Amino acid sequence: MIIQLKASAGKEGLEHTVNLLAKDGVPRERLDIFSGDTYTMVGVKGDVTKLDIDKYQTLKFVQNVHRISDPFKELSQQFHPASTVVELKNGLKIGQDLVIIAGPCAIETQYQLMDTASIVLQAGANILRGGAFKPRTLHRSFQGLGEEGLRLLAEARESTGLPVISEIMDARDIPLFEKYEIDIWQVGARNCLNYTFLDALAEVKNPRPVMLKRGDHVTVNEFLGAALRLYEGNPQVILCERGDKTADRVYRNVLNLNNVAYLKQHYHLPVIVDPSHGTGVRELVPALALAGVASGADGLMIEVHHNPEEALCDGPQSLNGEFEQLVPVVRSIFDARRNHLG
Ligand code: PEP
Ligand code: MN
Repeated sequence: MIIQLKASAGKEGLEHTVNLLAKDGVPRERLDIFSGDTYTMVGVKGDVTKLDIDKYQTLKFVQNVHRISDPFKELSQQFHPASTVVELKNGLKIGQDLVIIAGPCAIETQYQLMDTASIVLQAGANILRGGAFKPRTLHRSFQGLGEEGLRLLAEARESTGLPVISEIMDARDIPLFEKYEIDIWQVGARNCLNYTFLDALAEVKNPRPVMLKRGDHVTVNEFLGAALRLYEGNPQVILCERGDKTADRVYRNVLNLNNVAYLKQHYHLPVIVDPSHGTGVRELVPALALAGVASGADGLMIEVHHNPEEALCDGPQSLNGEFEQLVPVVRSIFDARRNHLG
């Protein structure tokens, strides 16, 4: 970190800065001070992640403060060159193997879930999704089956052998997710920056992998900050890109593939792309699924319903027969990218 003092700071300003740094646990030996004709620069060496930049930036004799190292250093490839691989109980390695998560937006009935689960299994999905707690825009619309949904999902895992993922919306539901041994706990876009909730998840003893979806208004740095909060308590974190809300009302959301390429090039956590919420338009889902994998994603999460026209949630973006045609193309793009670009 470099603190640039104003020309007017003088000896007094420099002394004040050095004393403040000492109070924050940075001894004089960690400082390199350069005094030019007009400016004085204080270089702070070593770990500065715990220093509050704003506190230094507000000092009246400070011109500027620059952080040189990545504030999300623990997540960066510079600090941790090997990719994080999240291994599930059945041996599936997320971050290494191609991951295809598929299933209904919401679990509606046992028949709906089992029928959809067998469609996705036959088509080549390797994780089953299903929402039991649904964050709906209208509180009067279907909110999910709650605990019964988790029970049905665990039952579907028994009969298909597929690991399962479901969204947890409230820290009070942690015991239920433990009871039904949900393999991956999804944090939805709406909770992406809910820090008290993320901290509660980071404190779970014997944690399961957590998939964090980026909120539609959340910058990539805020997303990394949220991921780091989880990661400090539980390193099994998976990132999920699911698009931004824009002024364009043709699409529900616009998938942000910049984020996918950037996160995979600079950070070490697995990244999953959700082209279903990322477009909200069934016809566009296959194209964006392929683009997601080409951009560097480790896998996809796609909503599939055995009868999309009757879905209680997100029918307009749910696939049916198209899913089976899509999977082999996704696999060949994933293999081509990995073999040629790494
Ligand atoms: C979902 O995956 O069903 C969901 C609600 O997604 P998001 O949090 O991205 O809106
Ligand atoms: Mn949905």
